[in-house]
Amino acid sequence: MHYDEGMNRWQELLTRREMLGGMLGLGLVCVASPAIANVPLPPRKPRPPRLLVLDPGHGGKDPGAIGRNGVLEKTITLDLGLRLANLLRGQEKIQVRLTRETDTFVPLQDRVKFARALGADLFVSIHADSAPNPKARGLSVYSLSDRASDDLTKSLVEQEIKAEPEQKTLPDYVDPEVAAILLDLTTKRTRQLSAGVKERIIRGMTGDWPILTNPIRSANFVVLRAPDVPSVLLESGFLSNTQDATMLASKTQRARLAKELAKEIHRILTGPLYA
Ligand SMILES: [Zn+2]
Repeated sequence: MHYDEGMNRWQELLTRREMLGGMLGLGLVCVASPAIANVPLPPRKPRPPRLLVLDPGHGGKDPGAIGRNGVLEKTITLDLGLRLANLLRGQEKIQVRLTRETDTFVPLQDRVKFARALGADLFVSIHADSAPNPKARGLSVYSLSDRASDDLTKSLVEQEIKAEPEQKTLPDYVDPEVAAILLDLTTKRTRQLSAGVKERIIRGMTGDWPILTNPIRSANFVVLRAPDVPSVLLESGFLSNTQDATMLASKTQRARLAKELAKEIHRILTGPLYA
């Protein structure tokens, strides 16, 4: 989606709200009258370089899933993250930051805050699954589920406007009604972009690496909740599956996976989705 489309929807919503306010005599016109000139529009995407934040899951006291072969999820995620960063850092139009570069514990909220504070263009959280069914295997990618996101929008508006105005959020002089619309639209735009990234990763990786039967997934993961940073969570495989655990425990295979993923992420960040 182009960012201008988001802008148009914003304007359209304001107009509708203005009409509704007038009709109902609720005084909502003020939302769209002189205030409009002062209300900052949703930020336009800056030009490249695109900032990618890689988030190796777990770490420190939190090992994550443990493979049948004893391999720890936190080790795999960090290795994949560092490999991806190394492969992408040399690219002209991409900048890379990691939420952790060592075996340290980083709270989930801090990972999201890190990406938001930097104004990341894409947040990729890296994990490895574990499932009761030992046959389940393959890579999958998650973005935030619609339902969770709708509920979330309300609480985000409340939390961010009232409790944490110092965060990179809407300025506090913005009418809360307008702020709610802006944040809602930002969230929708972010979700659409996240879904686009998720699908492209799966499409690009198919044939290069074992893929889960239903690989395009949605969930209400904490790390996917940034309203303004497109975010996906990548499950590189199942540590509860012998074949996947063997592949993910192998440095050679991890190098291969990182190379394929780097290719896809590069393609996405320099492609039409981010044009
Ligand atoms: Zn995990």
